[in-house]
Amino acid sequence: MTSARHTAEGFWLSSVDEVQRTPAARGSIELDVAIIGGGFTGLWTAWHLKQRDPALAVGIFEGGSCGSGASGRNGGILSALWDTLPTLVDHVGADAALSLAEASSDAIRAIGRWCAQEGVDAHYEAHPMLEVATSSAQVGRWESAVKACAALGVADRYRAASAEEIRSHCDSPVFGQGAIMEPAATVDPARLARGLRRRVIDAGVQVYEGSVVDTAEPAGAGVRLRSATFDVRAGSAVLAVNSRAAGWPGHRTRLSVTSSHMVITEPVPEIIERHGWDGAPFVDHRWLLHYCRPTQDGRIAIGWGGGSMGFGGRMTRELQVDAYSTAAAVRGLRRFFPDVEPSMIEHMWGGPIDVSPIHVPVALSRGPIWSVFGYTGNGVSLSYLMGEAVGDAVLGRPKTPASVLLDPPGLPRFPPEPLRQVGGNIIRRALIAVDASEDAGERPGLLARAVAGVPRRLGLNLPR
Ligand SMILES: Cc1cc2nc3c(=O)[nH]c(=O)nc-3n(C[C@H](O)[C@H](O)[C@H](O)COP(=O)(O)OP(=O)(O)OC[C@H]3O[C@@H](n4cnc5c(N)ncnc54)[C@H](O)[C@@H]3O)c2cc1C
Repeated sequence: MTSARHTAEGFWLSSVDEVQRTPAARGSIELDVAIIGGGFTGLWTAWHLKQRDPALAVGIFEGGSCGSGASGRNGGILSALWDTLPTLVDHVGADAALSLAEASSDAIRAIGRWCAQEGVDAHYEAHPMLEVATSSAQVGRWESAVKACAALGVADRYRAASAEEIRSHCDSPVFGQGAIMEPAATVDPARLARGLRRRVIDAGVQVYEGSVVDTAEPAGAGVRLRSATFDVRAGSAVLAVNSRAAGWPGHRTRLSVTSSHMVITEPVPEIIERHGWDGAPFVDHRWLLHYCRPTQDGRIAIGWGGGSMGFGGRMTRELQVDAYSTAAAVRGLRRFFPDVEPSMIEHMWGGPIDVSPIHVPVALSRGPIWSVFGYTGNGVSLSYLMGEAVGDAVLGRPKTPASVLLDPPGLPRFPPEPLRQVGGNIIRRALIAVDASEDAGERPGLLARAVAGVPRRLGLNLPR
């Protein structure tokens, strides 16, 4: 059995030094751009704005401390959009999809360069990303994306790989053939969030921590943000509050909220060495996937993307601390690495996932207010891209490749609550059943398969 700590904030944040919160917002404040939320999205938006125009008055209003949300708690895997290329082509066309996926690769490299240039030791390591079949049912699920890359002349970005090649990076007994995506990278997310927070403050951004914004409304030519203790007037605002966006006016059917949960071992360098693991992060090809990576101090971190559904934008405890979901992560870990004992697990945690109807993040505008959400578990690198695109939109600058994700036409909507949570949990249970049967080498039942396919039939591209 395990005596692991199970907390909301998780391992990474508990292993970096505490920071003193910046003073909370008070009274009347005037800004050019007000950003709500100090995770990667808010921080990168502020960073890009200040790079474009150092004289701009930019403020971040963060309810807790910057990086204390999903940004400081995730798997720290930076991946690009090549495995989503068919979906992107459907939504934005081939040329724009290609530019966007290329920009997602560039974002991964840019974060590495940023860490080097800014002297932020976020444990950034460049590696290819392995996408592995761990049951016969998963074999070939990468094919449509591999073909789409080849058809657009970028076969090297995402390509099929033999079991031997996959196992030359990490030799797990359940690894079969798969696909390899390049570039990719890993970071310690809390170190990246803390380093970015520091550099943003150094760049002159006014960061107000412990400052929850209650409302943001267009007012005159600009926007007004309010809480009981402060009142902000700004030219524009960016709402970067992750899953909580689902509780904001105009967003209730725009995103859906689920959760992901992780565990991390004590240092086990001998196990990593025994499997010849070179540091490449991997995901399996289940519907509710596992994602896994080693750390620089020889731990193994693994997450499972099958946590329960949220209700609207509410931040419930189950979205962050969920024994069922961490047990699923442990089962995945022991399947990949049978030599990991449950007693080696040191910490467990989780957090909300903001699910986009098209599987990639979007930004929507309401007058001078932009909201960014929908990373669907893939925000560490894409927040850099979205921050840049939204920053440029706020400044009225020329479009970037990610601008196709700003106010995209024809965005499907989710059903309203409580239907969304009830229906989402039924679909989740079906996906869990399908994955369990496939892991056991059995054909899933007809009902489970039918229910698991409902989102796709509704035009929602959710799992994976
Ligand atoms: C367990 C887990 C593992 C993950 N693993 C990966 C991974 O390996 N790779 C990957 O790319 N992505 C991963 N993700 C997703 C990734 O963490 C997110 O997409 C990304 O961090 C989103 O950043 P954000 O700034 O949008 O949100 P957050 O980091 O959640 O920031 C939002 C901030 O807004 C603040 N806030 C909310 N409401 C208000 C308000 N009214 N006023 C003021 N402040 C407010 C919150 O306090 C919070 O700090 C994972 C997520 C989880 C939960």
